[in-house]
Amino acid sequence: MQNTAYLGLGSNMGHKRQNLEYAIEAIDSIEGINVTKCSSFYDTEPWGKTDQEYFLNAVIEIITHLPPQELLKKLQEIEIKMGRQRLEKWGPRNIDIDILLYGDEVLDGQELKVPHPHMRHRLFVLIPLREINSAIKFPDDGMDIEEVLIRAEAREETKITKT
Ligand code: ADP
Ligand code: MG
Repeated sequence: MQNTAYLGLGSNMGHKRQNLEYAIEAIDSIEGINVTKCSSFYDTEPWGKTDQEYFLNAVIEIITHLPPQELLKKLQEIEIKMGRQRLEKWGPRNIDIDILLYGDEVLDGQELKVPHPHMRHRLFVLIPLREINSAIKFPDDGMDIEEVLIRAEAREETKITKT
């Protein structure tokens, strides 16, 4: 069974563009995952912990027959292979790969929560996500991406620039 999922990628260390491109290639080369769409890359002010480098962010669409937990494991392997260090929460990282949405699934596990718990507040996720699919609806409450984005824009002041 093939599922469509959306992944958020971010980097704020080293050669950020190269890190995103490398990660996208690595994801596409996993058996059972195909990357079907890729957003523009966006420069973003750091979120949460603000005294650090700007981030470069993107969202991709994939189709996969891997179940959500398996997918997360594969993505974490890429993070580890790329030398990601978890020094502090929301601190600098050369690559972060998050599962934003996985089909219509709503998961609330210890290891994996989908839709991603912070995504409704993050313009750097919502803006590239709408760029690649403006018809998305959130599976938990049926809200559409446009509506969620309008609400987030009213609250958030993070500067985001398409590169
Ligand atoms: P963050 O992405 O919030 O900055 P991390 O990448 O270090 O932080 O992730 C911390 C943990 O979040 C991971 O060990 C993973 O088990 C968990 N997690 C929960 N839901 C998700 C999700 N949708 N995508 C990726 N990781 C998730
Ligand atoms: Mg993460």
